[in-house]
Amino acid sequence: MKKKGPNFIEQIIDGDIARGFEKKNLRFRFPPEPNGYLHIGHLKAICLNFNLGEKYNSPVNLRFDDTNPEKEAKEYVDAIKHDINWLGFTWDKESYASDYFDQLHGWATDLIKKDLAYIDSQTSEEMAIQKGTPTKQGELSPFRNRKKEESLKIFKEMFDGEHNQGEHVLRAKIDMASPNMLMRDPVLYRVMNVDHHRTKGDWKVYPMYDWTHGESDYIEQISHSLCTLEFEPHRELYDWFLDAISPIKGIRPKQREFSRLNLSYTITSKRKLAELVEAKLVDGWDDPRMPTLVGAKRRGYTPEGLRLFTDRIGVSKADSWIDYSTLEESMREVLNHNCDRRVAVLDPIKLIISNYPKDREEDCYAPNHPQDSERGKRKLKLARELWIERGDFMEEPIKKYFRLFPGNQVRLRYGYVVKCLSFEKDVEGNITTVFCEYLPDTKSGTPGADSIKVKGNIHWVSVKHGIKASVNLYDRLFKAEHPGKDKESYLDDINHESKKNIPVILEENCIEALPMDQFQFERHGYFICDTNSTKKSILFNRTVTLRDTWK
Ligand code: ATP
Ligand code: MG
Repeated sequence: MKKKGPNFIEQIIDGDIARGFEKKNLRFRFPPEPNGYLHIGHLKAICLNFNLGEKYNSPVNLRFDDTNPEKEAKEYVDAIKHDINWLGFTWDKESYASDYFDQLHGWATDLIKKDLAYIDSQTSEEMAIQKGTPTKQGELSPFRNRKKEESLKIFKEMFDGEHNQGEHVLRAKIDMASPNMLMRDPVLYRVMNVDHHRTKGDWKVYPMYDWTHGESDYIEQISHSLCTLEFEPHRELYDWFLDAISPIKGIRPKQREFSRLNLSYTITSKRKLAELVEAKLVDGWDDPRMPTLVGAKRRGYTPEGLRLFTDRIGVSKADSWIDYSTLEESMREVLNHNCDRRVAVLDPIKLIISNYPKDREEDCYAPNHPQDSERGKRKLKLARELWIERGDFMEEPIKKYFRLFPGNQVRLRYGYVVKCLSFEKDVEGNITTVFCEYLPDTKSGTPGADSIKVKGNIHWVSVKHGIKASVNLYDRLFKAEHPGKDKESYLDDINHESKKNIPVILEENCIEALPMDQFQFERHGYFICDTNSTKKSILFNRTVTLRDTWK
């Protein structure tokens, strides 16, 4: 691939360095909230930050922004770490916003002392009404001029667990008339009688995300704090916070925003993905149809393919939708190179070679990879009775159909040329068996192989040697390009036929397949052996078809 020039974030960093910012002070972070599994949207942010770390040889922290104990869990922390490692990235420091709860609480107390924060004892509804709208300025809270001593006293009582959820909050005293709604005395702390997955029952008050995020970047001395576009208006607030706790020392984090990844036919919101899991519309977070990284892994998407995809889509400030086929193309490119070939018959009918002796079996040799002879060949047993694809036979051929039909000749891939003689149907009129005769001198790999030219080339598996297995074939999880756009809910766009499990016949070499093994099943696409596959009950998931078959 052609090497791209620096993206706009890299240009900003290069500019900072050119103006004297010391390269050794560069530091980045990826800041997930551990309230769900990472998805393909996070992939973009992960690659952006960790690639910067690699490019500038700078540390990248993995910081969990764990300020909402109601939604967060260690399960998610572990999964996030696992996923980032799986992608091939390693972080410098693992940290948690909860590591800074003491510091944040101390600063908040200082803000009260500096008359930059106050305890508000109204209901959240009352405060919401006073907040105004973007075009109508807010009203001052009746508690805005509360005495510092009183605010400090109540804040301490909140901290000590003497108040119930919703009775009081700590608010920054900024500007109720600001055109930026976020500046209208935002809440810094709320009472929450909920245990935290790390600090357990230590805290009765929890800091809000906005108060925590920017300060955590500062504590960690993150030089460039990168986030998605919707955080642009938060910059002003984070700047106000840093000024309020001044004098600050060292690096003042520079926030820059990039556009979110929106992928067609896909949802990238942890909350909505959690809803799909809870409503059992999918089989868990790692359902191969899910756009989560655990789902992608089980689907057979590889870290290499995902990283190639993020390279291709780049980083910019333009909000746009990426077509799902871009992701699939990246995957095909990587899998084509990585995967050995195997044969599978997905919709079998029988082919009987009438002139082939009943008890005879012979070896055919198929390359593991057509473009890489070093990967060697595998043996396939040919016999009188074979399975072939239903689609490889037509009673009455349509125009340009070169496969089997009465009187036509095709090659059994890696084997002989056969001529179709006749066929049989069941009572419903479905083809069950095709009868052929083989031309003995035409075996692939022998001097006579090319003596007869045929246009059709079909795959097969011996009835005696093939293995019964099943595969999951997937369609898009959502029927609409932008799920929910023209409906009341994105759930109205769900495709209830997005998974089809069918019995199939695999070539005998697949008996050795272990979970996570990946192959190209010739003519059918790339498949991965499922995590629950066993020798007795082999299951493959289709990662992607060979070509883009989506309309
Ligand atoms: P979600 O709505 O799915 O919970 P989030 O932004 O709230 O997403 P976080 O855990 O807070 O999830 O995100 C961690 C980082 O990943 C943030 O820096 C965020 O900007 C980034 N991120 C999340 N979704 C996307 C996306 N679709 N494209 C690019 N970056 C994203
Ligand atoms: Mg978030």
